[in-house]
Amino acid sequence: MSQGPVGTSDVVVVGGGAAGLSLAYRLVETGVATVTVVEPPDGPARPAERTWCYWDQGDDDFGEAVTATWPLLRVHGPDGSPLTVDPAPSRYRMVRSSAFERLVHARLARAPGGRLLRATADTVRDVPGGAEVRCTAPDGRTLTLRSRHVFDSRPLRALPPARTQLLQHFRGWFVRTRGDRFDPAVADLMDFRVPQPRHGLAFGYVLPLAPDRALVEYTEFSRASLTTEAYEAALGHYAREVLRLGEFGVETAEQGVIPMTDARFPRRAGAAVFRIGTAGGATRPATGYTFAAVQRHSRAIAAALQRGRVTVPAPHGRRALAMDAVLLRALDTGRIDGPEFFTGLFRRTPAQRLLRFLDGATSLREEWGIGLRTPVGPMLRTALEVPFLPRRTHPAPGTGESHP
Ligand SMILES: Cc1cc2nc3c(=O)[nH]c(=O)nc-3n(C[C@H](O)[C@H](O)[C@H](O)COP(=O)(O)OP(=O)(O)OC[C@H]3O[C@@H](n4cnc5c(N)ncnc54)[C@H](O)[C@@H]3O)c2cc1C
Repeated sequence: MSQGPVGTSDVVVVGGGAAGLSLAYRLVETGVATVTVVEPPDGPARPAERTWCYWDQGDDDFGEAVTATWPLLRVHGPDGSPLTVDPAPSRYRMVRSSAFERLVHARLARAPGGRLLRATADTVRDVPGGAEVRCTAPDGRTLTLRSRHVFDSRPLRALPPARTQLLQHFRGWFVRTRGDRFDPAVADLMDFRVPQPRHGLAFGYVLPLAPDRALVEYTEFSRASLTTEAYEAALGHYAREVLRLGEFGVETAEQGVIPMTDARFPRRAGAAVFRIGTAGGATRPATGYTFAAVQRHSRAIAAALQRGRVTVPAPHGRRALAMDAVLLRALDTGRIDGPEFFTGLFRRTPAQRLLRFLDGATSLREEWGIGLRTPVGPMLRTALEVPFLPRRTHPAPGTGESHP
């Protein structure tokens, strides 16, 4: 069954996840373009619910979708010593994907030029005057959409070749404890009191939602993900032996894999087709953080379209990517001690500057200052080596699925 063109809009966004919905929101909010978002119908083909955390100063428009915020951030060094920092005026925020979807779907429904189409995109290609997306509707019909620009956020089938590819892989439990065990003002970003793997590094991550409720995660930066049983064992050890939560129940679980790679992600897939989100290189290689970059990138794309430009800026600057390539390689080769490195970064850098550094928003001078407080010898040796290393294909990281 097929049907001819079923509609035109200025922009078609393929994939209604973090990047697709953020861009669609920005386009209807600024009135820059009419937009159709193509997202498969609910079912096993869609990613399960997950949480996206980021920091900002409360100047985004997603307040309704924010589940929790934390004014203070904490790391625990490998020796167990805690370090709490206050990144004011920024706060750490958590958005649940289901709440974000509800917010943006409602915004699209209200906007005269906004539309959400439940379909699966099969092909995306340039055509004279723009681009065309062919999709399959839930009833099996083939639909064709035409637009001036297409922004495609579908996950890539394979990651581009890289000099270094690590994975940030994790499993988390939404726990409810019998007594009050958490301080809802403090997010534990990295807790290195967990046993370290032979390669890479591991840490606990605790986001309290109430005195007796939290998302408790076990995360590794290493070359391969674990079995669910291995995550469960590591999480159980962290919750019981390190956090000493006492009696608790697990309400839901979240599991994921985020590639940490210095691969080059092509931003253009055609004259009128651009990649966005993780597929377009929006994931910061050394941290896995993506959501904040996606917001900045969406604003930049809306501004470019407003100026009538058809080029899309890179989601991360060259300097930030170069620093991340060095750090990934230094971690992968074991030349630096990951837990010592990240704890030291928090200990020696003012919190606001550190968050700007992680967002790629620091000046060259500030970066020198931060760099001089890291293990200079191993980092310098790695920096000199990295440009000469070949990029090669690495094993596929698997799907970053969440499991309820
Ligand atoms: C469990 C988990 C937790 C994470 N937590 C954080 C965090 O706290 N902070 C942070 O900054 N980053 C986080 N990340 C990393 C990153 O922010 C997310 O992976 C984010 O979802 C990436 O956004 P995206 O739009 O590129 O991809 P997605 O959000 O995965 O969106 C891609 C969309 O494309 C759709 N799609 C796929 N195929 C088709 C098709 N053929 N046709 C139409 N649509 C299609 C999918 O249904 C999906 O909705 C997390 C990742 C995972 C996996």
